[in-house]
Amino acid sequence: MTKRCHIFLLLILFSLFFIQVGAEELNIEPIDITNSAAGEDVFERAQFFEDEKAIFQHPKQIPINTDWKLLTQKNSKAGLSKKPFWIKFTLTNSGPLTESTFVQTDIAFLDKFEVFAFEGAKETHKIVDGSLPFKSREILSPLPAIEISVEPKSSVEVYIKLSNSHVEFTSLHLSLWREDNFVQHNTTYIAKIAFFSAVALTLGGIWLIFSIVLKQPRFFVYSLMMSFAGAYYLSYSGVSFQFIYPEYPEIHNRLFVFALQSSLTLSFLFFILHLSPSKNGFPYINKVMWTLFFTGSFLALNALFRVSDTLAVVGVMGFSGLAFLNSIFGIRVWLKTRESFAFWFMLGWSMFGISMFAFMLFFSMGIGTKYLSNDIAHEVAQLLILIEGTTLSISLARWFLFQQSQKKQAEIASLTDPLTGLFNRRALDEELESRKLLMANEGAYTLAVVDIDHFKAINDNFGHATGDEVLKNVSFIIKSCIRGNDAAFRIGGEEFLLLLDNCKRSEAFLIIERIRQAFENNPTLVDGRTISHTLSAGLAQSNEQPFEQVLKEADDALYSAKRSGRNRVSFETDQSESSVAIC
Ligand code: GH3
Ligand code: MG
Ligand code: MG
Repeated sequence: MTKRCHIFLLLILFSLFFIQVGAEELNIEPIDITNSAAGEDVFERAQFFEDEKAIFQHPKQIPINTDWKLLTQKNSKAGLSKKPFWIKFTLTNSGPLTESTFVQTDIAFLDKFEVFAFEGAKETHKIVDGSLPFKSREILSPLPAIEISVEPKSSVEVYIKLSNSHVEFTSLHLSLWREDNFVQHNTTYIAKIAFFSAVALTLGGIWLIFSIVLKQPRFFVYSLMMSFAGAYYLSYSGVSFQFIYPEYPEIHNRLFVFALQSSLTLSFLFFILHLSPSKNGFPYINKVMWTLFFTGSFLALNALFRVSDTLAVVGVMGFSGLAFLNSIFGIRVWLKTRESFAFWFMLGWSMFGISMFAFMLFFSMGIGTKYLSNDIAHEVAQLLILIEGTTLSISLARWFLFQQSQKKQAEIASLTDPLTGLFNRRALDEELESRKLLMANEGAYTLAVVDIDHFKAINDNFGHATGDEVLKNVSFIIKSCIRGNDAAFRIGGEEFLLLLDNCKRSEAFLIIERIRQAFENNPTLVDGRTISHTLSAGLAQSNEQPFEQVLKEADDALYSAKRSGRNRVSFETDQSESSVAIC
């Protein structure tokens, strides 16, 4: 994809963000709570006033001639600014009994939720304050809520002041509940949060098992992050904080957002440090991840110190754009490599982008819209976040396994001789190390040093390439004659070392003799020419002496075989000559 396409895509994203649903005037009538529906939307039935200079502390201070606006899509963006706004509506009770109703907002991180109720001249004033300990609140509810009672055949005028000293990325919803529905609604809400928490915690558990099985501490770090996501859901909207830390609402309000942003940011750093795919030919992802890291760090600090709301909005918009960029790079890598980690990477980041974007879109659409229920917006965004967490986890795991297999392949390549496919000298050192043969008395074995006879002459007469074919031929013969536990190494140009595991002298002799005969009887065919050849071998058996000594004895035996006329196998001291002995 070209650079222009990226810019075009970003432009579409930005313009979508600012799309507004057309303004529509709302019908303002008193809400008869005797017949009100479950979770009735108060915004639909209220008047709205923006307190631009944040000067009014009480509805009585607001001048009579104040221009209360009808709530429309256009003026419903107060949640985005730091300006408080007032909502005014009337509750009536046409029934014979006193009715209780609960006004609730879906913002958990709200600084202040003030309710002023006027029943004729009688005034009641209630506050849900962000800095107010949960246990001091009137109602134990996961979300800020206030109870308002209305006497029979009377009405109550309600003013609600909503204020936040910072921007929260959530849309506002103000709803009215009758008591039974309110309890049910809270239970459902807690159940939903518990479900999301359980899923996130389970994911954390899965990655913990993964990290233990594969002995990968870095995945342990990742599992901690996933568990943290679970903890986040648990305390989302104050559910667990209400019960566990009722004295510290500030932790929830400020530190928790900070902790969440920090953990997200740390996961980007974790990706860059441990799982960065940049070395594998797609460098852009790393740059995007670094940008995400710095944006995330800024957002975390911004949440803690509440520096700038505008930058917070820009930061989250940036997050969304970067996530889409990452998913585009994911597609490219997947198309190029067809590696499954790239597929999951692409999917995870698109989910990330979509969830962020959806969140912002719903947010920008304002409060209490008729067209989109904010509850659904939250649920969709939460679900996307979970899917994104899962897919990105799968991508990380796949990427990790891919890296592991590549590392293994590279390791095998570094131990193999490319011409013959046999092990090389480095592999011999490792083999000796692992078998602890360097030390004396560590299990019986037989060493064979095999050397092609007059190989120089083959090279001289037929060329180096033909010599190579001969080397391949002898290697093939060696490989097919040795047993499963034996190992063959190319230790010099046309010199091979065979490590025969735990076998008797006669057995070892027979194996090497078979190789000698096969090499003699299977000349190499190159370009229609037949190259006949032979080899000599020297054998030595371990007998509590160090490896170097056994090797020297095998070398001596080889020298002896060469001296006695070549094309034969010799054992260290007795010098029995195979071609004579066996044939
Ligand atoms: P001898 O019977 O005493 O072992 O004689 P030789 O000619 O086999 O022994 P020498 O050690 O003199 O020659 C080994 C030759 O192997 C010399 C070198 O050019 C050749 N050689 C080493 N590595 C390779 C290789 O990878 N490919 C080919 N074609 N030749 C190689
Ligand atoms: Mg030779
Ligand atoms: Mg040689």
